Amino acid sequence: MAIVNIDVDRCFKCNKNISLIKFKCKCEKYFCIKHLCSDMHDCKYDYKNSNRKKLSEENPVIKTKQLETI
Ligand SMILES: [Zn+2]
Ligand SMILES: [Zn+2]
Repeated sequence: MAIVNIDVDRCFKCNKNISLIKFKCKCEKYFCIKHLCSDMHDCKYDYKNSNRKKLSEENPVIKTKQLETI
């Protein structure tokens, strides 16, 4: 029995053999075509680095009551 270490590339998500066709994501991991999309795997690449959501600050509305003094 000969032990052969085959360096098989597998999808990081579904562990599918992607030796023939493999895609490398920006997170430095290889995926099959189904899981290449960053939404399909827990991509840790910070795509939104320069596109941060702005937290809408609610400015307090100060209503001044005008009390009429008789
Ligand atoms: Zn996959
Ligand atoms: Zn990724």
